Amino acid sequence: MTRCVSCNGIMKVGETSCYVCGERGPKQSGANPSMRARWATLVSIAFFASLALTVASLVVSDYTPPFIACVTASVVLLFLKRASDQFTRVKQ
Ligand SMILES: [Zn+2]
Repeated sequence: MTRCVSCNGIMKVGETSCYVCGERGPKQSGANPSMRARWATLVSIAFFASLALTVASLVVSDYTPPFIACVTASVVLLFLKRASDQFTRVKQ
């Protein structure tokens, strides 16, 4: 399953254009898979960084954002990471 790049509508595998807005779908080969992998990597790095920051905010709270902000960021990034992991797995 992929998503339309312009309206974010769900597209079936093999569909070449979006039935919602008519936009041509992402190319089957080319830059998109690697871009997606790069995005997944970026989200993973951000997630672990914010986890580290969360721990750090408990220890040296003077030098970090508030603990609650770190937890919120970690939770958001966890969901992003799970979503992008799923996305990458489906694509492969
Ligand atoms: Zn569309």
